[in-house]
Amino acid sequence: ALMKQQYEALEEIGRGKFGTVFRCFHPSSNQFYALKVIDNGLLSDATDRHCLEVEAKAMTFLSPHPNILEIIDTFQDAQTSTIVLPLCQPRTLFEHIADGPLPESHAASLAKQLLEALTHCHELGVAHRDIKPENLLFDEADNLKLSDFGFAEWFGEGRTMSGLVGSPYYVAPEVLMGKDYDEKVDVWSSGVTLYAMLSGIPPFYGDSTEEIFEAVLRSNLRFPTTNFRSVSSSAKDLLRKMICRDPSRRISAHQALNHPWILSADLS
Ligand code: ADP
Ligand code: MG
Ligand code: MG
Repeated sequence: ALMKQQYEALEEIGRGKFGTVFRCFHPSSNQFYALKVIDNGLLSDATDRHCLEVEAKAMTFLSPHPNILEIIDTFQDAQTSTIVLPLCQPRTLFEHIADGPLPESHAASLAKQLLEALTHCHELGVAHRDIKPENLLFDEADNLKLSDFGFAEWFGEGRTMSGLVGSPYYVAPEVLMGKDYDEKVDVWSSGVTLYAMLSGIPPFYGDSTEEIFEAVLRSNLRFPTTNFRSVSSSAKDLLRKMICRDPSRRISAHQALNHPWILSADLS
């Protein structure tokens, strides 16, 4: 294992709920990495500490996969817990979408990579539970890398999941209903992410968290002409199957990989 003092923290490149992500230099390998540093003082209770352990455990368990960010190392002292990650590009999918809708062929290539990562997670019994553009990173070769497994959970063999996790725009309705749910929550969130890639807007929105939740629970999926004029009917067909209210009728990640729109994606 690499030692913390061997990394020279440079500038801040990201910030989340518990900690801060820094670019860092590792002299002995002459390489740059990302350090996700979590302030132990902000980890209030056992649940938060659990998140950190799960994050490292899930990433180790799921590696290697071309579309899942691997974990390089972890270390802990009294004040901080640190995860060392490969350094990705400074712009996440969030920044790409903020620039405007993506061309359909580009969105299809990214959706395919996300679904490859999700299929792998779900086959190994791990649900990510926080799929959203901010957690989709890109390596130097522009490969999509699913990251931030802080809310990941093991399911299957009688294990059900519950608990309100995720981000308001992306959270699945069954999560908001407070019942047990399954890995299909990730397909919903990926569908919402794909909707935002293609149109630049989320399918469900409101002025407050409560209003967004209301829309997620009750609004019908619509494709406003102003934002979807040039989007193909095949893309909309996949969106309808992913953003489907009934999880038992919602397409699985594996099935979505075989949807004609995804099969048409050009990965070159
Ligand atoms: P949190 O769990 O607090 O959301 P994340 O792991 O999602 O933390 O990291 C927060 C942000 O930091 C990301 O949205 C991204 O902008 C940036 N970031 C995280 N990991 C990396 C990385 N390996 N390379 C480059 N930027 C990163
Ligand atoms: Mg995050
Ligand atoms: Mg997180």
